Amino acid sequence: ADYIEGKGWHNHRVVPYAPITLEPSATIFHYGQTIFEGMKAYLSEDGVVRLFRPDQNMKRMNHSADRLSMPQIDENHALEALVELIKVDKEWIPKDPGTSLYIRPFMIATEPHLGVSASKSYTYMIIMSPVGSYYEEGIHPVKILVESEYVRAVAGGTGNAKTAGNYASSLKAQEVADREGYSQVLWLDGIERKYIEEVGSMNVFFKIDGEVVTPALNGSILDGITRKSIIDLLKHWSVPVVERRVSIDEIREAHRTGKLDEAFGTGTAAVISPIGEFRYQGELFYVNNGETGELSAKLYDALTGIQKGTQEDPFGWVVELNKK
Ligand code: PMP
Repeated sequence: ADYIEGKGWHNHRVVPYAPITLEPSATIFHYGQTIFEGMKAYLSEDGVVRLFRPDQNMKRMNHSADRLSMPQIDENHALEALVELIKVDKEWIPKDPGTSLYIRPFMIATEPHLGVSASKSYTYMIIMSPVGSYYEEGIHPVKILVESEYVRAVAGGTGNAKTAGNYASSLKAQEVADREGYSQVLWLDGIERKYIEEVGSMNVFFKIDGEVVTPALNGSILDGITRKSIIDLLKHWSVPVVERRVSIDEIREAHRTGKLDEAFGTGTAAVISPIGEFRYQGELFYVNNGETGELSAKLYDALTGIQKGTQEDPFGWVVELNKK
């Protein structure tokens, strides 16, 4: 769909994936005025398609739009449109275990205008593509490199918006991580490089001495949908969980005293990603002997079970399509 100031959203359409035309002076190219979301739809044997908390993605899209001076979308209408598209495209959703339809809604600023001000025109698009299983050989731990030179975001910046600039600023650190055999970067706060923020595309949790802790939202951390679901699930199970500041020194100390039981990342792509090793300024911390922790495995099974409809959904998180 397209948006023009004064006219609003119009020209809704479904088209095959193909190149699009933009003016070289379009605002997106110069000032990065663009936002996105990432979601997955799962298809089960009985033909039911399941979306996980899609209302939360629409809500976060509008939060990002507000921060980037972009127009709001009608959350209900956008969700209805998405559901219609999935129905059109149902044959595209793979059924094999772990596979899904990846959904990428995004909005770009299209006004041809070289000047630092919000665009007066936008396009909202949704790309859909079948994706394979994140874990081809079952859930396994990843290695994480703690970044102490570069920062991804600071409070007051755009860190808690899902916008391209946050990812652009992370590419250089990610390149180093890739080169050194680490799967993602762990970001520290942008002022003191002391407090833990999040992993490249995941929020992060630690189990320290029996208690689960995750960095509290502070304006620069993305308000992850998997993160909030994990917190609710832990509370539902009566497992102690707290959101607060967590310093890298606390993790180092917990590791030194044998109290760092588990660590894991949470995000739409992997759902739960156990962390087996951190490297911070040349120092290595192995977590749970580099193996998947009991709680990480339990959370993974529970959340993926809810998402795929093989387990009860006590929270009403799942939206089912094509149900007979
Ligand atoms: N942090 C960042 C920076 C991300 O890109 C993502 C992926 N969207 C997450 C956290 C996890 O968020 P969610 O659980 O909503 O996928």
